[in-house]
Parts: sequence; C-alpha cells; structure tokens
Amino acid sequence: IPGRKFFVGGNWKCNGTRDSIKKLVEELNKSVTPEEYLDKRKRKHIIPARINKDYCEVVVTPPFVYIPQVVASIKQEYQVAGQNCWINKGGAFTGETSADMLLDVGCKWVILGHSERRSIIGESDAMIATKTAYALSLGLGVMACIGESIHARETGKTNEVCFGQMQAYLNELKDPKQWAKVVVAYEPVWAIGTGKTATPEQAQDVHAAVRGWLSENVNPKVAEDTRIIYGGSANAANCKALAKMPDIDGFLVGGAALKGEDFTVICMAS
Ligand code: PEP
Repeated sequence: IPGRKFFVGGNWKCNGTRDSIKKLVEELNKSVTPEEYLDKRKRKHIIPARINKDYCEVVVTPPFVYIPQVVASIKQEYQVAGQNCWINKGGAFTGETSADMLLDVGCKWVILGHSERRSIIGESDAMIATKTAYALSLGLGVMACIGESIHARETGKTNEVCFGQMQAYLNELKDPKQWAKVVVAYEPVWAIGTGKTATPEQAQDVHAAVRGWLSENVNPKVAEDTRIIYGGSANAANCKALAKMPDIDGFLVGGAALKGEDFTVICMAS
C-alpha cells in the first residue's frame, strides 16, 4: 500500500473581499479538519489503510493581497499557498510576486501551470517549469498542473498532451529528489469551472498513465510516492467516488473551495 498522504488544495482564484474571506476562514476554522477527526474519534476502522495515520494535507490559496489576512487568521492545520509566482528572484518585474515573497508571508505552497494561466495569460510550458524549479529551490511545495483540452480528449491525445506537460517540468527538475515537494494536479481543461466532472474511470486512467510516465521517466520510487490529485468541478457530491480510485490522491478544488462546508467534506473524502 503506497504511503501517499491525501492532499486537498482549495483554489480561491480571483474571488473575495476582506469580509467574504473573513467569513470563509471562520467557517473553515469551525469545521473539523481531517486531523482533528482522526484524533478525536480514533475511527481507525473507517479510515482507509493507505492514509491510516497521516490523514490529509489541506492547503488554501487566496488571492495574493489576502494572503497575510488568511495566514494570520486561519488555524494552523491549514497551510496557505500562492496562486502563481514569478520565474525567479524579485527585481524590476512590475506586477509580479516572487516565490521568496510567498515564503516570507507564510506560504508553504504555490500553484503553477494552472490552465487559466496557460490559456488566458499565455504562460508556456518552459516558463512554468522554470518557476517550478525556482520555487522548489527555496523550499516551497508546488501544485504542478497539467491537463488536456476538450479537443485533445476528443482526438485521442489526452495522454500525449499530459506527458508533454510532464516532460516540460522534468526538463527543469534534474534531481529526482525535487519531486518530493511536487503534487501533480491533473485538471482536464473541459472540466474546470464547467460543472462537468471527469468520471472516476476517466480520471483514474489519466492518473495511472501519469504515474506510469513518472516511473519510466523519473523512477519507480518517485512514481509510487508522488501525489496526483484531480481538479475539475470536484464537489461534495462527487468527491467520494473519485477518491476511491487507487491513483487519485486528493483534489484541487475551485468553485467548491469557496464554500467552507463543501470544502471540508472534500477534505474528508478519502
Ligand atoms: C481549478 O480551478 O483548479 C478548479 C478545479 O476549478 P473548479 O473546481 O471550479 O472546476
């Protein structure tokens, strides 16, 4: 049984006000986190063996300007992440935020390669990989996103596209040890924000293929240890069926992460 700890990221995207974020954090602070659930009830019999004692890692990702507010107010069971960062150290890069700054304000993670940044902002595979290597070099964890368009899926190119995106990351991650702080987020573009979720079987097929790719192209140990999480209209109703699949190690959640109770249910899905 692999020892991969379940991982759930909440991507708040470009949403919120000081007030709405205060309310969301209050909701999250009130809800029982997976760790507390495990401690308080000791319900070992309903906890699948693969996550037996470590349960789940939960990360929330506010817009940059609200990060200090969230770091200061959210309870310590939740980690905080940035939604993006600059490719290298700071300097004369107007409008950018460096990985160093994210660390400085208390972030432990960053989302990189999200499809909205690829398609709307035009970030390239190479740029995303450069950011990834830099963020990892500072000790930040990276939720490294991949995923195919509807056109790629309909033309049978899902694996080809995902493997190409994985190869771009690998081009910058020369040392297999760097993968220890990478969580791969498989997010089919056609499922993000659309209410259309991949079926558990569709997601499992890609997760297993990506794990196979890691085994062949990095090494079997990295393949076994790397969390591969699913994103794309995951919600409180569909998370359990997805989480049952052997290669789905958690979720990256957009819309449902803005609702405290739903997000908590998703964190408990394993
Ligand atoms: C996302 O933006 O990473 C995402 C998965 O969004 P949603 O859950 O809203 O589809």
